[in-house]
Amino acid sequence: MQRTPWHILGAGSLGTLWACRLARQGLPVTLILRDAARLASYETAGGLTLTEQGTGHLYPVPAETFDSQVPIKRLLLACKAYDAEQVVTRLAPRLAEGAEVILLQNGLGSQDAVAAAVPHARCIFASSTEGAFRSGDWQVTFAGHGFTWLGDPANPVQPYWLNELTDSGIPHQWTADILTRLWRKLALNCAINPLTVLHDCRNGDLQQHPAQVATLCAELAELLEHCGQPEAAVNLLEEVQRVIQATAANFSSMHQDVARGQRTEISYLLGYACAAADRHCRSLPHLQRLHRQLVQHLQALGLPST
Ligand code: NAP
Repeated sequence: MQRTPWHILGAGSLGTLWACRLARQGLPVTLILRDAARLASYETAGGLTLTEQGTGHLYPVPAETFDSQVPIKRLLLACKAYDAEQVVTRLAPRLAEGAEVILLQNGLGSQDAVAAAVPHARCIFASSTEGAFRSGDWQVTFAGHGFTWLGDPANPVQPYWLNELTDSGIPHQWTADILTRLWRKLALNCAINPLTVLHDCRNGDLQQHPAQVATLCAELAELLEHCGQPEAAVNLLEEVQRVIQATAANFSSMHQDVARGQRTEISYLLGYACAAADRHCRSLPHLQRLHRQLVQHLQALGLPST
């Protein structure tokens, strides 16, 4: 049986993690890289190296640039939220009628922008707790086992290829409530990540700021209810406290971005939450002040604040 190829845009942390697991299962995978220079660099490396439990393996996954003419039937979009719309717009002419685009971006906002840019494709949203980081060019370390929820707010029918994920050892589940999952993750992120940047601390150090965390969670829960996501608000503070404890030794992803001088996904996380509050005419003073403080902090460091 001929399998539909997986095109994977972005050979970063999550893109590599997916590409290597699918390819070692014998599934057809093609990476789409930024330009000819990145493709040449990749070819010199000879493939992607994925390190799991201290052992690295090289996977010579084929790669191409945007210029290829091969039609795309299934695209895994594994770039950051702020790159997603522009990248998909460039790939739109190659997307076959009825193509599927799987969106791995964190936060909210980029999914709707992508869906509007490719109305002829089915967009499947994902929310993942898997953890991976780049240990070098074309080298990724699988840092934390997790789970990926997948769903399509416009169509509850699950795609036939989920068994390919099962066969590849990618833990996942289809859900009719993917937006609830994405909102819940966004709320957890808003309650933890900006504070770790502003206090310049590990997640666990937020245990010294219980009132600040509780106030933010109360406002976030109010926002979720006004945005039609009451389920995402249930026991939010308890879960935030549990995550802070369970990940006490870790630096949040936003803290890591700032520490490396990299752009954050603020507009798709706290920025999205504050914009939603404005749309619903809700005054959430602590959340909005946190956003202003974070924007000022990023600007002072010379980093993009959107
Ligand atoms: P990443 O390591 O920075 O990788 C992003 C990739 O996108 C890079 O390979 C980059 O190419 C590529 N890219 C960006 N613009 C491109 C363009 N115009 N053309 C071609 N390639 C382009 O990001 P990530 O950590 O995998 O994160 C991806 C998303 O998953 C984010 O929204 C993140 O929040 C979410 N997420 C990540 C994790 C994790 O553990 N890493 C966990 C859960 C969710 P270059 O290599 O050329 O720069």
